[in-house]
Amino acid sequence: MLRNKLPGKGTTIFSVMSQMAQDHGAINLSQGFPDFDGPPALRERVAYHMGHGHNQYAPLAGVPQLREQIATKVLDLYGCKINPDNEVAVTPGATEAIFCAITTVVHAGDEVIVFDPAYDTYEPSVTLNGGVTKHIALHYPDFSIDWQQVRDSINERTRLLILNNPHNPTGTVWSDNDIQQLREVIAGRDIHLLSDEVYEHIVFDTKQHLSLLRYPDLAARSFVISSFGKTYHATGWRVGYCIAPVPMMEEFLRIHQFINFSTNTPMQYALADFLHDCPQHHYELGNFYQEKRDLFCALMASSQFSLIPSGGTYFQLADYSAISDEIDTKFAARLTREYKVAAIPISVFYKQPPDQHVIRFCFAKHKDTLREVAQRLISLQSPEGGSDSNATNSSQ
Ligand code: GLN
Repeated sequence: MLRNKLPGKGTTIFSVMSQMAQDHGAINLSQGFPDFDGPPALRERVAYHMGHGHNQYAPLAGVPQLREQIATKVLDLYGCKINPDNEVAVTPGATEAIFCAITTVVHAGDEVIVFDPAYDTYEPSVTLNGGVTKHIALHYPDFSIDWQQVRDSINERTRLLILNNPHNPTGTVWSDNDIQQLREVIAGRDIHLLSDEVYEHIVFDTKQHLSLLRYPDLAARSFVISSFGKTYHATGWRVGYCIAPVPMMEEFLRIHQFINFSTNTPMQYALADFLHDCPQHHYELGNFYQEKRDLFCALMASSQFSLIPSGGTYFQLADYSAISDEIDTKFAARLTREYKVAAIPISVFYKQPPDQHVIRFCFAKHKDTLREVAQRLISLQSPEGGSDSNATNSSQ
C-alpha cells in the first residue's frame, strides 16, 4: 500500500493550466514561460559545444567557466565577492536548488516561514523533509509583508525563512525597509534564509533589485537562488544556480550529488560563453519586459479587469471582481474554455485563500500575442454590461 507523502497536493497548477490551454486551444498566459526563443548567439553556442565534445557529465557543482561567470556577475551587480570554487552550484533549474537548500537545513519538526501567495514548490519541499510550514499572508492588495506578524511567528523551532524577490505571483519587489526589517527580525537567531531571486533581472521603473548578496550580514546565512531559464528565455533548459557560504554550500552539494549529481553540460558551457560575451543581455532585461508590461496594461485599460501594479517578474495580476464573483479556479477554467486565454488562479498559492478574485497573466509573450489576448479579455464585461452572460450565473 502506497502512502502519500504529500497529502492534499494534487498536480501543480502550472501543469494543470498548461494542459487545459492545450486542450482548449487557448493562448497560454498561465505557466510562466516566453513564447519566443533566447538570443541566437546563445543557442549557437549550445550547438557549438555539443559539436565539440561537451556531452558528458559536468562536475557536480557545475562547469568552472560558468561558476566563474556567475561570480563575475554577482560582483558586478551586487558588489558581492564569492569564491567560484566553493560558494556556487549550478543546478538543473532553480527548483532543484530550492529543494536542496531546504533539505540542507530543515530537519524533522523544524519550522519554515513562507509568505502567501507562495510559489508552489516551497511547502512540499519542507514537508518531504519532515518540516512544518508556517504561512504568513501578504497584505492585500499591495502584497506587502507584515513584519510584526513575522516577528510573532518566529520561535525557537524556526529554522528557515523563504523569501522571493521579485515576487511570483504578485510582482512585488522589496524595499530598503524590508531589508532592514528582515535584519531586525532574525538578529541573534539561528535562522537561515532562502532567497528565491529567479526574476532578479526583471525589475521595473528604475528600481534596483535588492539581492541579499548586497548585504554581507544577510548573505552569510543565505542560499541565494537564481535561474538562467528566466533570463535567457530558455525555461526548458533547466539551468539554475545557488550561491551560499562555504559550510552551507558543502552540505548543499552533499545532497545535490545524490539527487542530480550534475547539470547538463553543453548548456553550461554556452551560458558561460554568453555571460562573458554579452552581459548587456541581463542588464537590458528589465527594460525589455517593462515594455511588455506597459503594452499589456495599456491594452487592458479598457477591460473590466483591474490590474494590480507589477514592479518586477513577468507576471501581471488582475482583479476580475467587476466581471464575476466565481472563485478564481473556476473563473480561470472558464476563461480558458470560453475565451481561449489561460491564466493562473492565485488562491492555489495560499494556505487559507482570502476572499479575493485575482488571476495571474504571464506577459512574456510576443506583442501580437498580447494584443490578441487583450482583445479577447476586453470582450468580458461586467454582468450589467450584459455581453458576458455566463458571468451572471457564477457558482461557487
Ligand atoms: N515558475 C513558473 C511560473 O510561475 C512555472 C514553473 C513550473 O511550471 N514548474 O509560472
